[in-house]
Amino acid sequence: MTSADTLCDLCGASGAELYPAGAAPRLRRHVRCPACGLVWVAPRPADVLAASGLVYDGARAADDDRDARARARLRAWLRGAGPGRLLDVGCGAGLLLEVARELGRDAVGVDAAADRAAEARARSGAVVHAGTLDDLPGDERFDLVRMNQLLEHVASPRALLAAARARLTPGGAVHLAAPNLDALAHRVLGARWRQLGREDNGHLVLVGPAHLRRYAAEVGLRVARLRTRGARAWSLGAGSRAARRAWRLVEQGLEPWARLALRGGVLEAVLVAA
Ligand SMILES: [Zn+2]
Repeated sequence: MTSADTLCDLCGASGAELYPAGAAPRLRRHVRCPACGLVWVAPRPADVLAASGLVYDGARAADDDRDARARARLRAWLRGAGPGRLLDVGCGAGLLLEVARELGRDAVGVDAAADRAAEARARSGAVVHAGTLDDLPGDERFDLVRMNQLLEHVASPRALLAAARARLTPGGAVHLAAPNLDALAHRVLGARWRQLGREDNGHLVLVGPAHLRRYAAEVGLRVARLRTRGARAWSLGAGSRAARRAWRLVEQGLEPWARLALRGGVLEAVLVAA
């Protein structure tokens, strides 16, 4: 294990073991920072991309109904997010890029997986770079940078957010969504929480609202909005059907509280150039 594996990306302290490898099926070893509470996978898998198992968009595209719903959601999101040039980081198979282009928006994508970048390019007609933010031409700036379910896949959220900050126009905004380390589901399920780093999901780091605020401040971003959604511990795969149904009812009842307490499963933030 290298020092990059053991030192906290947010504050530099040495992590201490939180969950040993295998504490739940396919769970990787997790450590937690004793100073700030950040949680990450250590040691990090050598080939993160191959381990990531990122097939969301491809799987969705096969289902017309779900595809139509996803498109409607993305159209609504785009309209709400404001005008200007869009950069979709971790664009997958390019569904957002396609929707953006249909709406006449100038949109660019980037994805670490070359085959998905190629698929996104073919599907949307947008410029899509295979690689990371560092692979974009140096002078490219955007009004809107979207990072949906990306933060948890990188070794350093700090580096990712700093790179995104550098791509913003004055007044531009980063819109991101990531699993919420402080989720009620994590509290309930512990090592069985599905968003932890497993051999089949490529998750490397988990942040909570306080971590995101501190990251943002340190890379020159201001938190314009921070909320969570979904109190569900949908990963509760064990137990009988009746038990799962009962738990679902409990979860529905907990949703309003979870939103107020920032304990929902997904963290959503809008960060603007400070
Ligand atoms: Zn820390």
